[in-house]
Amino acid sequence: MSTEPESMVILGGGPAGYTAALYAARADLDPVVIEGPAWGGLLQQTTEVENFPGFPAGIMGPELMQAMREQAGRFGARFVSEWAEGVELGSEPGEPHTVRTDGERSFATRTLVLAMGADHRRLGVPGEAELIGRGVSYCATCDAAFFRDAEVLVVGGGDSAMEEAVFLARFAAQVTVVHRRDDFRASPIMLERARQTENVAFLTGAVVEEFAASDGRLPDVRLRRGGEAMTIAGAGTFVAIGHEPNSELVAGQIELDEHGYVITMPGTTAVSRPGVFAAGDLVDSRYRQAVTAAGSGCSAALDAQGYLR
Ligand code: NAP
Repeated sequence: MSTEPESMVILGGGPAGYTAALYAARADLDPVVIEGPAWGGLLQQTTEVENFPGFPAGIMGPELMQAMREQAGRFGARFVSEWAEGVELGSEPGEPHTVRTDGERSFATRTLVLAMGADHRRLGVPGEAELIGRGVSYCATCDAAFFRDAEVLVVGGGDSAMEEAVFLARFAAQVTVVHRRDDFRASPIMLERARQTENVAFLTGAVVEEFAASDGRLPDVRLRRGGEAMTIAGAGTFVAIGHEPNSELVAGQIELDEHGYVITMPGTTAVSRPGVFAAGDLVDSRYRQAVTAAGSGCSAALDAQGYLR
């Protein structure tokens, strides 16, 4: 257990957390990153990343995260590969914040950077987890190019599903939006854009029940529609049924929007408690890219430095 408060604790080991750690470490703030045992964030679950600037030949997601972590470590960032279990935020300027981990350690800190990210909501059906990166994806921007000329399904009926479908239609031979109801949650303009796209079709009232590895490159997708079972053989599937920001640890202590995203003050990464800053997918329901998360992690570290000064 540390006695003196740390200068900075960063919660989260994704692009936002490690970039905040890099900037803080280079400013001699000796940051502690509580990164969890499965550090690396969503990029740890992806294969090749082709859209992170600086890697003309692409880089594997886990390799990129390893490199970001190493770079922060080179300047003295310390890593705690445990889950944060409890967070108590101070409410007065200068009052320390406390983070407890499942390894029964406790860290008091003068500044806290929240960078716990968001998770793709999963369908939770058999085969889904096993086939991530081998036919099941949650990010068209990341993976569409791997599905050139393939048959592709997009699961969901919201704006994300429509956006993914229209984007994928530029690569795939055929895109089918699979939605569990006949009514769409998507805004009329986004729905219309998908409807107007030539190679986008709709399958409504259909529920994905299972993904099964097949002899071909892509899995078979088993669905149920109106009591009838059907199989779409050899299709890539993009699950676009929403995200869940990992904000439970601070819920009730700082302002969150109605979807659970952390609200920051306009133009900064500061949140509604002094000395607390937030970055990455935890605050961003819109862009959700590794590069934007890294950028906001940098901003959070600089804002925290300003606060400490
Ligand atoms: P969303 O609006 O919550 O829609 C999620 C969709 O997934 C719904 O159609 C829902 O079905 C379906 N769904 C949820 N759980 C499911 C399950 N277990 N099985 C099958 N289907 C399931 O999420 P989103 O589309 O990610 O959008 C989130 C927010 O971001 C929205 O405010 C949206 O407007 C915004 N957004 C904006 C843009 C843009 O403006 N360019 C782009 C993307 C997102 P039901 O309808 O039956 O509940």
